[in-house]
Amino acid sequence: MRVSLVASLAAAVALVAAFGMAEFAPRALAAGPSGPMEPAQKPDQTPAQKPDQKPDQKPDQKPSQKPDQIRPLPVAVSIAPQRFLLERLAGDDVRVTTVVTSGQSHETYQPTDQQASEVMRASLYFAMGLPLENGRWFESIRRAQRVRVIDCREGITLRELEGHGHDPGQDHGHDEGHGTPGHVCSTDGSDPHVWTTPALLKQQARTMSKALREAAPWLDARLATSLPALEKELDALDLELRTILEPAKGQAFFIFHPAWGYFADAYGIRQIAIEREGKAPSDHELTELQRQARAEGARVVFVQPQISSKAAEAVARAVDGRVEVIDPLEADVPANLRRVARAIAEAIAKGPAKGPANKLDSGADR
Ligand SMILES: [Zn+2]
Repeated sequence: MRVSLVASLAAAVALVAAFGMAEFAPRALAAGPSGPMEPAQKPDQTPAQKPDQKPDQKPDQKPSQKPDQIRPLPVAVSIAPQRFLLERLAGDDVRVTTVVTSGQSHETYQPTDQQASEVMRASLYFAMGLPLENGRWFESIRRAQRVRVIDCREGITLRELEGHGHDPGQDHGHDEGHGTPGHVCSTDGSDPHVWTTPALLKQQARTMSKALREAAPWLDARLATSLPALEKELDALDLELRTILEPAKGQAFFIFHPAWGYFADAYGIRQIAIEREGKAPSDHELTELQRQARAEGARVVFVQPQISSKAAEAVARAVDGRVEVIDPLEADVPANLRRVARAIAEAIAKGPAKGPANKLDSGADR
């Protein structure tokens, strides 16, 4: 599998090296003014034409034939929320390849051979600092220097991911783990989940817009309208989330994988992770988490659909609560953030559990 991936990447690199942008030429021609070649423009009759000259260096090349004229512009992203931003910014003027497809985990996913060669044909790759961007396939992408890689975290102050580099003896909500790295989604201890708040999405939209303009100046006019509109939409969303979460301020919610740290910081709530360095907690840690969940009056333990967890169920059982799914990777970002805000507000605004127990969502003995 690995061998064939590397082989296909090598083939893609060789293809790009040999033909440059030749494969895109027909579409680029179709997008701009084109007509039959005049005799003087034939390669064998043009003095300037050298044998080693690449197709995109032909003297008869018009501006409309350059790679930056390819419409729609082929771009690639790691996860679906980035796709959302690109579609708001450039709509059908971009063709987006999303590497982590629906239902996959951003922590552990590695792309298929087909995705890797699709990415190799993109003009831009919008990276997120996820482990998949440290894989061998991505090294090949970087080495080929064919695709410009943009770090979407540019201009964002990264917080530390829960469970990295803390004293395991501490216990006050933001020190939820220890141990050796497991399959965590952080590559350097920083929290990669920067796509979970409107304010940070705005910053990413600006970074994307700048890169799109540089790669395809013809997007200028569209972006001049779409970026301010998107920023306005995200501002309104931020206000809405703030209102929803106001009653929950200062309180804590429990979650298996700590994907909502930026979200929690932005709205003054506390995220308590059950996962330890990408792994389930030890029995001792679990007992401590159950105690903490009782003390915090938790009613709900959140999980994400890509990761199932017995530990989350065990914490929920300890407070007669339930497990609820929230997904950090939904493509419809505004709808998803609203849903998550309501779910968290509802989970923690009711106060300590008392009276008849809430039912567990699913079989506790699985
Ligand atoms: Zn994650």
